[in-house]
Formats: sequence, C-alpha cells, structure tokens
Amino acid sequence: MSNELLISRRDLEFQLYEWLNVGALTRAERYADHGRETYDAVLDACERLATEKFAPHYQKADRVEPQFDGERVTLIDEIGPALKAFADAGLPAATQDYERGGMQLPTVIEKAAWSYLCAANISTAAYPLLSLANARLLLHHGNAAQIAAFAEPQLRGEWFGTMCLSEPQAGSSLADVTTRAEYEGESPFGGQYRVSGNKMWISGGDHELGGNIVHLVLARVADADGQVIPGVKGLSLLLVPKYLVNGDGSLGERNDVRVAGINHKMGYRGIVNTLLNFGEGTAYQPAGKAGAIGYLVGPLHGGLACMFHMMNEARIGIGLGATALGYTAYLHSLDYARNRPQGRSFGSRSSKQQPIIEHADVRRMLLAQKSYAEGALGLNLYCALLVDQARVTTDESERAQLEQLLELLTPVAKSWPSQWCLAGNDLAIQIHGGYGYTREYKVEQLYRDNRLNPIHEGTHGIQALDLLGRKITMNEGAALMQFSARVSATIDHAHELDGLASHADALHAQLKRLQQVTRTLWSAGDPVLTLANASVYLEAFGHIVIAWIWLQQAAAAHGKDSDFHQGKRQAAQYFFAWELPKVTAQLDLLAALDRSTLDMRDSWF
Ligand SMILES: Cc1cc2nc3c(=O)[nH]c(=O)nc-3n(C[C@H](O)[C@H](O)[C@H](O)COP(=O)(O)OP(=O)(O)OC[C@H]3O[C@@H](n4cnc5c(N)ncnc54)[C@H](O)[C@@H]3O)c2cc1C
Repeated sequence: MSNELLISRRDLEFQLYEWLNVGALTRAERYADHGRETYDAVLDACERLATEKFAPHYQKADRVEPQFDGERVTLIDEIGPALKAFADAGLPAATQDYERGGMQLPTVIEKAAWSYLCAANISTAAYPLLSLANARLLLHHGNAAQIAAFAEPQLRGEWFGTMCLSEPQAGSSLADVTTRAEYEGESPFGGQYRVSGNKMWISGGDHELGGNIVHLVLARVADADGQVIPGVKGLSLLLVPKYLVNGDGSLGERNDVRVAGINHKMGYRGIVNTLLNFGEGTAYQPAGKAGAIGYLVGPLHGGLACMFHMMNEARIGIGLGATALGYTAYLHSLDYARNRPQGRSFGSRSSKQQPIIEHADVRRMLLAQKSYAEGALGLNLYCALLVDQARVTTDESERAQLEQLLELLTPVAKSWPSQWCLAGNDLAIQIHGGYGYTREYKVEQLYRDNRLNPIHEGTHGIQALDLLGRKITMNEGAALMQFSARVSATIDHAHELDGLASHADALHAQLKRLQQVTRTLWSAGDPVLTLANASVYLEAFGHIVIAWIWLQQAAAAHGKDSDFHQGKRQAAQYFFAWELPKVTAQLDLLAALDRSTLDMRDSWF
C-alpha cells in the first residue's frame, strides 16, 4: 500500500507543529534532548514500518484467520517479523525513561507515529498496543520484582500481554465477574494466589509471537472462610503468566491457563480472540496442583482502580485506532474519486466522463470523511498532549487540572472516532460504489475492522454513562467548567481572526446550551431519567468537542493560503454548517427529559 494512503503526513505535521506546537514541550527537562528532527525521525520510522511490514499482510490476515487445533494457536507467518521489526526499532519503550531503555519521547509523537501502524494493519498493531498498556500498568502499580520480570520484557518487545476482564456472563457489568483467586503464600513476586475461572473475548490470549504472555486478570479473592466481597469493590488484579518465571528470570513450567476456543470475528481478525480457562487443571498442574498461579498487583480489592490505568490508556488507543481506520479509508476514497470517471456534472455538455470527485454529492461524502478523520485525529493528539503536559508540569494544581480534563475527554476520545470514523468507513464504501462492496478493495475490510470499536473497551452506552454519570459530576462539575473555559478561550481567540466569528458564535451558543441542559438533567431529581438518554448526551457533547477542535485547527490555518490550509478551512466550514447544527435537536431532546425509552415496556415490542 502506498504510504500516502495511510495517514497524510502533511496533516500530521500541521496538527503537531502548526496547531499543537509540540515544539514547546522541549522546554521541559524530560524532553530537552528532542526537537523536530527526532520527532520527524520517529514518524519516518513508523511510516516506513507501516508501509513495508504492516500493510502488506493486512488482507491476508483477514482471509487466513488465526487457527486453534485444540492445543496451539497459529497465526500467519508475517505478523511475527512485523512485530520484531517494531521491537528492533526500539519503539515499544519509546516513551519510557532513558534508564528503562526508552527514548523519553512525548506521548503525542508516539500516538502520531502509531497512527501509521493502525492505519496499515490494526490487528497486527493491537498486539503491542495491548502489551504496552499492560507493561505501563505494571510500571505504575506493580512491585519491583514484577516490573523487572514481567513489564521489562514487554517493553523490549520480547513478550506480550493481555487484559482479562470480561467473562461470558460479565461484559459491561464487571460487578458480576466470578473468577476467583485463593491466597497461597508469599513469593518473590509478592502475594501468590491460585486463580480459577473463565475469561471471554481475550485478545491476544494465546500465540507464539514471543517468549511469554502476561495476563492481567480481574478476580475475586476469597478470605480465610472462602467468602468473597461482591460487586466491583471485591475485585483484585492478578498477574498470571502463561509460563511461570524462575527467580533468575528464566522461564519455568507452563501455568494452568488453557485456550478453550477462539472467536470467529466479523473483522479485526489478525489478532486472535480467545476464551481462556484459568485453573482447569486438566493439562497443566503448576507445582503439582490445579489452579493458575498468579501474583497480586496493587492493593487487595483495588483491582478495578488498577485496571482503569490500562483501560483508560486502551480507550485512547482505541480512539486512535478507530481514527486511523477512518482516516485511511478517507484517503482511499479520495484517491478513488479522483481516478474513477463516471457521468458528467449537471449541465455539462462534455462527451467525456468526469472523475466522480466532480460531483458535489461525492465531495459531500469526502468532506464528511475529512472532517471526521482529521477532527478525530486532532482530539486524539490533543489528549496525548495533555498526558505529556501533566507529566512534565511542576505545578501540582495544573497537573490535577490537566488530568481532570483528560478524564473528561477520554470517553469522547474513545467513542466519537468509533462512531464517526466508522460512519466515514461507510461513506468510503459508498464512494467506491459497487467496487466498495467487493473484497477486491480494502474499504469493506476497513469498515468491518472499525465496527468493533464502539463495542469493546466499554460499549458506546457504557462510555455515555461514564461521561454523564461520572465525569460530568466529579468534583462538582469541575472538569466541565475547565473544558468550558478552554472552549471559551478558543472562541475569544477566533473572534479576533477574520472569517471565524460565525463559527465562534455558533460554538459559543452550543456550549452555553450544553451547560444549561447539563444543569437541567442533573436537577431533575431522578438519576434514572437523567441517564436514560446518556448516549444522546455523549453524542452532542462529542460534536461540540470536535467543533472546538476544528475551530482550533481553523485558527491555526488562519492567514495561510496554500491548498492544504484552504482545505482545513473548508473542512471546518463543513463541520460548522453540516454537523454542529445536529446538536440542537439532541440538546432539545435532552432538555425535555424525554421518557420514550424509559416508558416503553418489553411486552410492547
Ligand atoms: C473482538 C473483541 C475483543 C475484545 N477484547 C477484550 C479483551 O482483550 N479483554 C477483555 O476483557 N474483554 C474484551 N472484549 C470484551 C468487550 O469489552 C465486551 O464485549 C464489552 O465490554 C461488552 O460486553 P458484552 O459483549 O458482554 O455485551 P453486554 O455487556 O451484554 O452488552 C450488550 C448491550 O447491552 C448494553 N448494556 C449493557 N449494560 C448496560 C447498562 N448498564 N446500561 C446501558 N446499556 C447496557 C451494551 O451497551 C450493549 O449494547 C472484547 C470483545 C470483542 C468483541
């Protein structure tokens, strides 16, 4: 695949350097060794890797699914070398400290570089994506022995990791997790437990890509009487390796973790998805006994809080993946529309067919795709920059504010691209006409791959409950106030720039309305009613966030006359004319505290 059809390098450079001004990060000691040269070198490396190692097996990984013969999982041969090349380039530990073998690269550059890999082959990219989130969780919550034995090999790209939350009966509702862990004594890696239970949907749950697989498992620890604490408060986090690790770091015996089966997915097929049995005791009995050996990570009964570290990172990663899939589909559509002759423009007398990009309706679809993809990329990079700014600030209250804003934006950064870049994927098929509906073109696979994103890592509905039920109300609405202050600052700035006042006014009006509606929703005195339409709130809030991102991009493009900058202004114009007004109807519905869904009865369907 041509690298020009993955992610626009010109756009990445605009977003990083002309808008987000990531160069300013080098003022912080942590990033002092960096500058545009190193940032560009990382982008170059990932662009090359994506084009040469990840993209070539994108369609093969879809056609030739992972296989399970009852014992072993096998993947196509190309995934291993691609991930080895990724590791050899030192990319897994890129953002880590020098002492850990990292480059102290800002997260915003890492995410920009990752967008190439996700656009080229989302499934192959998902193996390290999960492993790095796993390793970072351990760096944060693990003890020194756990970090050395289990996080560092993942940061070197030698081992891989999973997150094991879901069970057949417990997907959205983790309060219903039943996997158990029983204390066995102390070990060099901390408290040792025997884990038993079934985990469903585990991505990367088994394969032979690396030396070991580190499973992070949510389980319920029983007390001395065998009793467990119910609900999410009773969940603890256990580190369960596929192979046990000896005191000297060498691999020991096989742990009692078995693949019970693999799931056959609609898309995203290159990453194996497994049902894992822990503690089955049929094939493996570590230390002569049934039960998977696991080590407690973080505090007893503090598992969900620890896991949130991984989930939040994974959520932003999923938003970026959804964006990349929508982005590359947009570039494929653009290329196709420029090269596909069909029909003549209305009123044209020419005998020659014109490329379909000449039809206004095709340009409508392309503009929608562009506004979704570049807007979503902007939100993901903005969030990544918040991570970096929070990391380097020496002002504690500023750090708290940055983290709070990131928490507020996380459900949007996950959900908005999952919804709207998927809509962009749908338009990509439409622009390709009948050809888009065949497997000869990539756009149908990009759509199928992206269809997962509104489902995993907290469904759309669960993200909506998180935003309206938790993030909006936390610290008495402080995050929403901070968000509003930032949007208002952009509006004030835009008012000073020719041509942006009407966008600024439109955003101002929707922001005020959002604040009023939020107050109305939370003064209803009935949280069930308030939360009944949470998905609509998430969608309205998301469009306001992306309008804000577009206003910032339009301001950054202000006064610059190249085609590229004109394109930015036109995409902003599209978003404000066609997309932001949709929010009015959504906010009207929310303000009315509509009961249609609540009052509907099962028997009436
Ligand atoms: C391909 C794939 C990969 C995955 N990878 C992993 C992984 O690596 N690790 C892992 O632990 N899990 C993984 N998952 C699991 C994923 O996170 C769950 O599928 C997801 O959380 C939804 O759970 P569920 O499938 O049981 O659906 P359910 O929870 O049964 O949800 C079904 C529907 O009901 C809605 N719903 C449920 N509860 C509520 C509620 N309280 N309020 C409003 N609506 C509600 C949901 O929004 C959804 O629309 C993966 C899933 C898939 C499909």
